[in-house]
Amino acid sequence: MEYPGNLFVVAAPSGAGKSSLVKALLELDSKLDVSISHTSRAPRGQEQHGREYWFISSDEFRAMAARGEFFEWAEVHGNLYGTSRAAIEARMAHGDDVVLEIDFQGALQIKQLFPYAVLIFILPPSWDELKQRLNRRGDTEAEVIETRMANARVEVAQAQNFDFVVVNAVFDTAVFDLKSIVHAQRLKYAAQRRNRSAVFRALDLP
Ligand code: GDP
Ligand code: ADP
Ligand code: 5GP
Repeated sequence: MEYPGNLFVVAAPSGAGKSSLVKALLELDSKLDVSISHTSRAPRGQEQHGREYWFISSDEFRAMAARGEFFEWAEVHGNLYGTSRAAIEARMAHGDDVVLEIDFQGALQIKQLFPYAVLIFILPPSWDELKQRLNRRGDTEAEVIETRMANARVEVAQAQNFDFVVVNAVFDTAVFDLKSIVHAQRLKYAAQRRNRSAVFRALDLP
């Protein structure tokens, strides 16, 4: 599928700081939009329907999947998560850049569908720090934290299949790293040809 905008996919084990980093990135970049996923998980803490996620039942989720309404979906930590076509298609068609915050299974599905998608993996600086961050967030039960820590080992092993890796030790450094990836992607020949077509024409560039 061909769209004029860039597509960024950010994956990380739960607690590595993915949501906080993407939020900070969006505040710095008005040309970037985040996709809001659908999930069968219950809202956590202050989460709101339509802001962090579209919260739906497992039955509604499966019905949407059966109707082919998702670009990708996966079961993660026992819940269903998916990126709906409706969430991103219009924005990508309009030429906006979109970020997906999804798990590695979804990221690999997206790469099959959109080979130009840029896959970014966020690593925590250590297992201890990952656990501390999950605990510090204070909105996740002990049992859920144990599941997420066990799954984190499987997830981190997938970093080798991604285009870029960002270690989220010092928060601002990680935001800068993410920003650099987005910026570099926009400077690629194909992207520049789309965005600076007048210059390319004036210079007789193909
Ligand atoms: P690599 O990332 O340099 O290895 O090469 P890719 O083939 O992954 O991407 C090269 C460039 O092609 C990227 O910067 C994309 O901007 C661009 N590109 C190719 N096809 C598309 C498309 O359908 N949509 C968008 N947005 N970019 C595309
Ligand atoms: P994810 O979306 O990957 O599950 P969050 O963005 O919710 O992770 O971050 C998990 C917790 O770690 C949050 O409490 C967040 O404030 C904290 N955090 C994120 N990045 C850092 C960092 N570089 N240093 C310390 N704490 C961090
Ligand atoms: P959380 O419940 O902590 O918000 O997210 C749990 C996991 O589900 C994270 O790894 C997150 O990236 C992933 N996730 C969130 N939305 C989607 C989605 O639309 N598709 C896929 N495949 N994974 C998602």
